[in-house]
Amino acid sequence: MSEIFKGSFTQQEPIPEEGIEAAIAVMRTGRLHRYNLAEGELGEVAHLEQEFAAAMGAKYCLAVASGGYAMGCALRALGVKPGDKVLTNAFTLAPVPGAIASVGAVPIFVGVTERLTIDLEDLAAKADQADVLMLSHMRGHLADMDALMALCDSKGIRVIEDCAHTMGARWKGRLSGTDGIIGCYSTQTYKHMNSGEGGLLITDDAEVAARAIMLSGSYMLFERHVAAPPPEAFAEIKYQTPNVSGRMDHLRAAILRPQLARLESQCEAWNARYRAVEAGISGTAGLTVVWRPEEEHYVGSSIQFLLLDWSDAAVADVLARCAARGVELKWFGGAEPKGFTSRYDSWRYAPSAPMPKSDRILKGVVDMRLPLTFSLADCELIARIIKAEVSAVFQAAE
Ligand SMILES: *Cc1c(COP(=O)(O)O)cnc(C)c1O
Repeated sequence: MSEIFKGSFTQQEPIPEEGIEAAIAVMRTGRLHRYNLAEGELGEVAHLEQEFAAAMGAKYCLAVASGGYAMGCALRALGVKPGDKVLTNAFTLAPVPGAIASVGAVPIFVGVTERLTIDLEDLAAKADQADVLMLSHMRGHLADMDALMALCDSKGIRVIEDCAHTMGARWKGRLSGTDGIIGCYSTQTYKHMNSGEGGLLITDDAEVAARAIMLSGSYMLFERHVAAPPPEAFAEIKYQTPNVSGRMDHLRAAILRPQLARLESQCEAWNARYRAVEAGISGTAGLTVVWRPEEEHYVGSSIQFLLLDWSDAAVADVLARCAARGVELKWFGGAEPKGFTSRYDSWRYAPSAPMPKSDRILKGVVDMRLPLTFSLADCELIARIIKAEVSAVFQAAE
């Protein structure tokens, strides 16, 4: 009898008890809106912003309604206007081109490498077309951030980092989200901290921070922020910046604060699971493990491997056989968008030209979540199943 995995790929850990208690305390006060504060009270949201800024080593932080909102807000804060072009990854998730489209701007898709990072050669070739890059660290893979920033700086390109999958990750010791002018994070259920929905934005630029705070819907209450520039920074900006409400509330901030306190140990727990799966699938004929350089201190909250140059039917066969044994894999090569997974050519509101080198890689990308509710033994079992099914299909095709 072949082994079957019985766990759930969408089951998260519970919210820490301190978070549940803090959330109940907020509900008892009835003061859920971030600016609804008692005399002398800072509030959960401002506390979270202060703590997240400190954790990331950033000057300013703004908590918002979602990761997608943070990205749209970042684009507006940099003055991106309707019709402007914005460079971004061809390999990412739909909220990224969606944020660009939400401000009426037009994405220019940049290709992907076998390391699943943005293709710096393609970025260099397209660098003259835009002055903003929305860089998505898709599935936690960090590009060579030294080379990327050198290229962007030389071309006058401002970088917004989409750190939905890299909260807590580092390139050569620098926290993800601190190289670009703005870092955006999501606290949606499937990310590194879970408040159902939510987002965070960091920057060291006082003007950008003031604009983002006004945009998020601060009315004239910006002085109630603490991870914010001084009131002088708002002198002109408060008149010039539209209110595009997208605030976070105290309830969400209350459940996030204890999760932030344990972020580092959570990242270690993900990496232990990642390494268990990676070790188990390594050396499987026909399967390419994604190479991770030493400079990259990743957070393995999901894992990808490549079935390069496989036929569509063979990949579909692997997915079906793994699914029959309880292992849920996602494929980025499918012609039709499915679940959370879609491709640059499925976003038909945005123009794109075929990218043969990237298409070959996207056709081979298989993706799997690694929720922390999986034990290391679960991960070893999952790897055995993947290895067996990939091998079976590969050998039959030989
Ligand atoms: C989840 C996600 C986002 C957006 O986050 P939401 O909070 O769901 O809006 C952005 N980029 C990537 C790559 C994501 O996976």
